Amino acid sequence: MLGKIQTNVSLKPYNTFGIECRSKYFVAIERERDVEAIFRFISREKPRHLVIGGGSNLLFKNDFFDGLTIHNRLKGIKLISENEHSVIIEAKGGEIWDDFVQFCVSRNYYGVENLSLIPGTTGAAPVQNIGAYGVELQDIFHSLTALHLETGERKIFSKEDCLFGYRDSYFKSREPDTYLIESVRFRLSKTKKLSLDYAHLKEQLPENPELQEVRALIINIRRSKLPDTEVTGNAGSFFKNPFVSREKLDELRNLYPRIPFYVQGDKLKIAAGWLIEQAGWKGKRIGDAGVHGKQALVLVNYGNSSGQDILSLASLIENSVFQKFGLRLEREVRVY
Ligand code: FAD
Ligand code: NAP
Repeated sequence: MLGKIQTNVSLKPYNTFGIECRSKYFVAIERERDVEAIFRFISREKPRHLVIGGGSNLLFKNDFFDGLTIHNRLKGIKLISENEHSVIIEAKGGEIWDDFVQFCVSRNYYGVENLSLIPGTTGAAPVQNIGAYGVELQDIFHSLTALHLETGERKIFSKEDCLFGYRDSYFKSREPDTYLIESVRFRLSKTKKLSLDYAHLKEQLPENPELQEVRALIINIRRSKLPDTEVTGNAGSFFKNPFVSREKLDELRNLYPRIPFYVQGDKLKIAAGWLIEQAGWKGKRIGDAGVHGKQALVLVNYGNSSGQDILSLASLIENSVFQKFGLRLEREVRVY
């Protein structure tokens, strides 16, 4: 059924929270020409539209999505250019992110290894400027090509155009659900350059590790700490880490001397997982909605949770954290 618009399709297999939600219209795209057909459908029917990749950073709040869900399966990775020091690689938006990481690591291209095993697709990676272990997508980003779903205009976005921020971009907060990201280009280094600042990496790697060792360790840590989406529904961190002023941090440190914080350029970041844990939520469960026992930032669906159940739990957590610490948690996951 590739490229064909289907009706009343269950999105349960397409979101890692495993929430049941039926989409009025649904289409899977695998070829460039499918994209053109979708554009024609949108121009004619003017439905609300949503592009999904792996469905690993979204939550459906209702059991029906009154619009068109476009499942991006455009695949392909190719070398665009190279010189002595670096390469430019292009990946299609539906390419599985970790397959792209493996492609780079196996060829000794440096820069993307800390983002190993992040679920989802390459086209979604710029949407929230994915990050892990001190590396963000913007550190290796070159440019992307996106199709405006209402005008059909194809546009190349430079790094500046994307307005990348902490788990944020133009596509997440400025013009959400407007573009289909068709392909992304990355600049990677051919000379050895590793980011090993995070304690887990420093502590567990040998001196002068190889690129492959960094990827293997990150995969091991992630597998041991995060719930497997095949077993327990989740969308990774539900909340972002908050940034605070120096005054606020001093106030909190007086009350909680062990509060974890990090200096990020000229900003101060607090670990939201710690705040949630201190507010008593780690491992808690209300019906089938719960807080992961190994990382309190991750909300889980134990089986039959609805989107509303997850959102109710999220609100309780937000209120507790605000009452205890005076900090408002911001949601990282996109809610539809
Ligand atoms: P989806 O969930 O399908 O979509 C997410 C958003 O992007 C939606 O708004 C969607 O409309 C939009 N979108 C998707 N594809 C396109 C496209 N081609 N064009 C335009 N818009 C698009 N995130 C991190 O940053 N760091 C992590 O370490 C991390 N770890 C995770 C661990 C687990 C276990 C899980 C479940 C999630 C984790 N995430 C992490 C979140 C998630 O994997 C990433 O945000 C990922 O990039 C989402 O990709 P996706 O294809 O699943 O996007
Ligand atoms: P962790 O290493 O136990 O660290 C807890 C928090 O402290 C993280 O949120 C991280 O912030 C921050 N932190 C730790 N060391 C830091 C340093 N040296 N400099 C700056 N900040 C530091 O976290 P974890 O849960 O095991 O996750 C490991 C990495 O994977 C993190 O980068 C995390 O963001 C990423 N991850 C993301 C998701 C998601 O869905 N977004 C899910 C799982 C894991 P940052 O989060 O800003 O890095």
